[in-house]
Amino acid sequence: MATELITHCESVGPTVPDRFRSIQLHPTRRCNLACLHCYSYSAPHHRDMLDVEATKKFLAYAFEEGFNNIAISGGEPFLYSDLEELLRFAKEIGYQTTMASNGMLLKTERAKRILAFVDLIAISIDGPPPLHDHIRAQKGAFEKMMEGVKVLQQHQKPFGFIHTVTPQSWESLLWLGEFAEQNGAKLLQLHPLEMHGRASETLTSLAMDDTLAHQMYILAHYLRSKYADSMIVQIDLLHREYIRTFPQVVSAFSRQCAANNHLSDLFDTIIVDETGKITPVAYGFGDQFSIGNIHRFDYQLFERFIQEKVPSLKKVFEKTLDKIINNFETDIVNWNELIVQESIAA
Ligand code: SF4
Repeated sequence: MATELITHCESVGPTVPDRFRSIQLHPTRRCNLACLHCYSYSAPHHRDMLDVEATKKFLAYAFEEGFNNIAISGGEPFLYSDLEELLRFAKEIGYQTTMASNGMLLKTERAKRILAFVDLIAISIDGPPPLHDHIRAQKGAFEKMMEGVKVLQQHQKPFGFIHTVTPQSWESLLWLGEFAEQNGAKLLQLHPLEMHGRASETLTSLAMDDTLAHQMYILAHYLRSKYADSMIVQIDLLHREYIRTFPQVVSAFSRQCAANNHLSDLFDTIIVDETGKITPVAYGFGDQFSIGNIHRFDYQLFERFIQEKVPSLKKVFEKTLDKIINNFETDIVNWNELIVQESIAA
C-alpha cells in the first residue's frame, strides 16, 4: 500500500526523494569539538546516550511502519559507545544507513568496522583550512578531518561533504565544489546557517539575509550543473514560486494521494534526540508536537499521534505555506527553519 501511495504522489509533480523515510538519530550530544555554529550545543562534556536496546526496539517498530533510512548525527556519532551494535542491527533489518560526522575519529580499527555498516557518510567542512579551524574552534581540525577523508578513500566508502553556508564562507563555494569533486565526494550538501543552539550566541553577526540566500541559491545551482556527472549537489533552500507550484514537495498534506494512514506517509523525517524524545520534521520542532519517547512506547504510538496531534500539525503546515506564498518580499526560503519557528509559536 505504501508503495502505491508513493507512486501516485510522484505522478503529481516533483517530490523530495520519496524512497527515503528517515529517522534522524542523535544518540549522543557528546562531541570531540564544540563548533561555533553547532545547533545542538554538542560538546565534550555531554554524557547522555541513547539506550541501545530501546533504540533497536524502536527501529524495528518504525521499519514496520514504513521508515527505511536512519541518518545518524550528533554530537559525533563515533563517540556513541554502542554505534557498531546499533548499525549492525539496522542493516540486518533492512535500513539504509547514513551518517554525519566531523571525520576526525575515523582512523581506529573500531571506526573501520563501523564504516562497513554505513552506506553513505557526510563529512562536515566549513571552508578552506583557516575558516574551518576557526568555526570548529580547534587548530588543526581541517588536517585531522582530511586524515579521515583519506580513510574513506582507501576503503572506497561512498562519502560526501556537508557545509554550513555563512557570510564568511559563501565566497568559498566554488573552491568547495572543486575540493569535493577532486577528493571523490559523491555528495555536496549546502545548508544555510540557522540561528539555533550555539550559533545564536556566538555567530549572531553572521545571520543569513536575503542577499546571501540568493547568492547561495545561484551558486548551488551553478555547482549542480557543473558537477552533474560526478556528484549530487543538494541545497536546503527553496524558491517561493517552486513551493507555491509544488507544495507537495514540503507538505504531505498537499499531496494528491488519498490516505495518510502511516506516519511515514506524512513525514519524510522524524527525529530522535539523545534523551529518546521523538519529534516530527526537524530538530528543535515544538515540544507540543512530540510523538513520544523511545524509552517508553507501545505499538500504537504512531497511530495515536496521527489521531491526536496531526490535525493541529496540519494547520502549522498550512500556516507556514500560506506565509511563504504570500510574502513577496522573500523569494528564497529555508522551509525547515520556518516550519520549526511556526511549530514553536503554535
Ligand atoms: S557541529 Fe558537529 S562536530 Fe561541531 S560540535 Fe556540533 S556535532 Fe560536534
